[in-house]
Amino acid sequence: MARFLCRCGETLSNSLTPNDIQLRVYTDKKWDDIINLGTIDSVDIPFPEYDVWRCLKCERVYVFDGDTVIKTYVLETEK
Ligand SMILES: [Zn+2]
Repeated sequence: MARFLCRCGETLSNSLTPNDIQLRVYTDKKWDDIINLGTIDSVDIPFPEYDVWRCLKCERVYVFDGDTVIKTYVLETEK
């Protein structure tokens, strides 16, 4: 369980399971490797390489390497 303060001021938390904050992001190649393990029991699916969180308020997406944010994506808005 963890909490993170989004730049918009919203507190993000993954304490609820399931939640709408954490995204399970795999490359197509990694997903293909997982599927080719021969079993698709959800407990056998490894966690993705990076933790990816999305703020439901501002839609920023944070990519974590461990506890460190390594990328932040901000939604572009049309003027
Ligand atoms: Zn936010």
